Amino acid sequence: MSDGDPTDKSGFSKLPPSVNWCGDCDEHDTFAYVHKYEVSKNSKKSTRGLKFLQYDIENVRRIWFRVVCVNDYVNAPSSYIGNTGHIERMNVWTHLLAAVIYLTYTLIRPLTSIGKIETISSSLASFSYASLVATFMFSSVYHVYSANKWWSSAARVGDYFGIYLGISAGTLSDLSVVTINLKDVGWKSIADVWIASMLLLIFFCLRRFTLTAEETRLAYLPEKCSLGFARSTICDLEHSGLRAAAGMTLAFNWLMFIPGAFAMLENDCAWVFAGSRVLATAILICGMVLDNAVLYPDKWFNESEAPPRFCACYSKRDGCGGGWVMTSHAIWHLMALLSTIITTIGTEYSIVNSELLSAF
Ligand SMILES: [Zn+2]
Repeated sequence: MSDGDPTDKSGFSKLPPSVNWCGDCDEHDTFAYVHKYEVSKNSKKSTRGLKFLQYDIENVRRIWFRVVCVNDYVNAPSSYIGNTGHIERMNVWTHLLAAVIYLTYTLIRPLTSIGKIETISSSLASFSYASLVATFMFSSVYHVYSANKWWSSAARVGDYFGIYLGISAGTLSDLSVVTINLKDVGWKSIADVWIASMLLLIFFCLRRFTLTAEETRLAYLPEKCSLGFARSTICDLEHSGLRAAAGMTLAFNWLMFIPGAFAMLENDCAWVFAGSRVLATAILICGMVLDNAVLYPDKWFNESEAPPRFCACYSKRDGCGGGWVMTSHAIWHLMALLSTIITTIGTEYSIVNSELLSAF
């Protein structure tokens, strides 16, 4: 955006790029190093319209490099992410790690003894693992484009799509396991979760077109800007509850399958199936509490009390390989991956060990 662009209502582009200015975002009223933001006339006292120099990226051609590898230099001596870091960096890498793990497993599975089991359940399990690759990739893309005001709102729709795809494919795989390869299962039971997911996706797509990018883009932890924790996020506003409740309802579908597991599968398989879901869901809930309520380490430190290295995992190093901090959201990503792996183990155990599943 050019200097003095009339469409830039925040006035951010008018700031000389080399100036270190943090406005009133520095919670300690000392030096302002990391983020420079300006509140537009209309959004003063609100979290809309804020821009953070080390977060917001307008040139999407360099967005991947700047988020994932090396961000443009700013003078940021007290930041957890240093001079060339980006707060989304570890969010992206943790999801890419998950995508690589599931892609590798999806590719090598057909070569293993599990992959050679020719049942509907085994095929649907493979399909659900491939879907998880898409889920994690869509979320990685979303975290990269979170740095751009317009593209973040578009990528958010992709993020929804990936999540609903992963949940739907996983639910279908579970249904197949507990019904002995979908034996006597009506099409409505199979289509149920897919229809629900599709309706949610359509709703959030339509909603996206009724709102501007500015309306849904809110600053998050602007008071922690000097530490590098400030960022902008897409918010679902009055529909946040709907999205969270619908996602939880879909993700908890396995609860309805537990009676079926004990009725249809061998006892050990039923226990492993149920136990893996209980454990995985407990980890998911802990992750949600960490990311939404505890907010460690995002909210826990301030500039005058820099934590010891073992309290918060971060790298302030300039250049490739540095410039990241394990935020509560990145930790949640790893907990979500662990939860998914535990669910996968539960599914694979039944596919391998259930003679009823193999025989049908
Ligand atoms: Zn995420």
